[in-house]
Amino acid sequence: MGEKTKIMIIICDGMGDRPIAELGNRTPLEAAETPRMDMLALRGETCIVDIIAPGVRPGSDTAHLALCGYDPYEYYTGRGPFEALGVGMDVRPGDVALRLNFSTVEERDGALVVLDRRAGRITEGTDELAAAVDDMEIEGARLYVKESTAHRAALVIRGVGLGHEVRDVDPHEVGVPIWKAEGVGEANEKTAKIINEFVKRSYEIFKEHPVNATRVEDGERPANVLLPRGVGLAPHIPPFGERYGLKGAAAVEVGLIRGIAKYLELDVIELPPSVTGGLDSDFDALFAAALSVFDGYDFLLINAKGPDVAGHDDDPVAKVEAIERIDVALEPVVEKVATGVHLALLADHSTPCVVGDHSGDPVPCLFYGPGVRTDDTATFGERTCAYGGAGRIRGQDALPILLQLSERAEKLGA
Ligand code: ZN
Ligand code: ZN
Repeated sequence: MGEKTKIMIIICDGMGDRPIAELGNRTPLEAAETPRMDMLALRGETCIVDIIAPGVRPGSDTAHLALCGYDPYEYYTGRGPFEALGVGMDVRPGDVALRLNFSTVEERDGALVVLDRRAGRITEGTDELAAAVDDMEIEGARLYVKESTAHRAALVIRGVGLGHEVRDVDPHEVGVPIWKAEGVGEANEKTAKIINEFVKRSYEIFKEHPVNATRVEDGERPANVLLPRGVGLAPHIPPFGERYGLKGAAAVEVGLIRGIAKYLELDVIELPPSVTGGLDSDFDALFAAALSVFDGYDFLLINAKGPDVAGHDDDPVAKVEAIERIDVALEPVVEKVATGVHLALLADHSTPCVVGDHSGDPVPCLFYGPGVRTDDTATFGERTCAYGGAGRIRGQDALPILLQLSERAEKLGA
């Protein structure tokens, strides 16, 4: 075996797309000027990747689990825990976590009837409201609440004997009474009881809260309850370092992915405020921050969010621009990987502009570094990569391929 090399995975979030008429029936990646990605593809080996499986639409969370070599069907146990991680909450294996909506309800015949699931699209004061119900004790469990963007928040329940197969309280429609959390069996019943009590307390505390007094004075709907949904159990996930014997770090722009990285016990690299996670993000600063610590690690995960944002906005021109800006910012990375690093550059899923959301279309991918079998692909794009030497793989296969190239794979058999 040769000397072990370092591994880097660069994820251009949501970069995959479909041909777009206004781009001359090219995808944004095909239309973009990307001399650095093209060079890496030319000197590397390319393929297309079904991030989860063919036709499956990945979330960014499940996609990153897969690309870090974890089976999302085994380790993804509901959105709640990752949502909570994404807003920076402390989430531990065994915790039960839920998504919350600040909502408006009205008492009718002893029931709470939903008037507005988003409390008049509340944007301000949710931090104060969340603080008012944070760190409570119910049935011997501790409950933590933190606001997220707009009307959203997250709830973490920490205690013993908790189940997570519990019905939502949010009825997902207006004009009807809120549901009661219900579950079968002792553990689920306990969680349901805690959740119902939490909802009741949030109503009692919020209806008297000054934030809502001001809202009502201003003619706005009060955020007078928190409605839980998306309950999930925080999974026991083997830490990345233990599983692969690699000291790893992550330079990622958005909370949800930072949460995943933390959960895998990757070191999360501090990024300057100019790295916004939006289309205006400073990709130079993102890559500079990542490279500045790379000497201390065997593995580095980088996520640039821009292309996904443009895809959700159905803005092909902005998506081309974001991809081109990432390509320019890749210059120091290109220099670094040329010293003998094994690199995979790909998207975590497609976010086609015409769809405005994630799709199951496979994404282009390139492997670069010593020993890769170069192929005939000379430009980096969805269709050129489909002719690549590595064929068509799953997201979970990317890391083993890199481990093998970097002389870290165990032999199976004698
Ligand atoms: Zn994504
Ligand atoms: Zn997205």
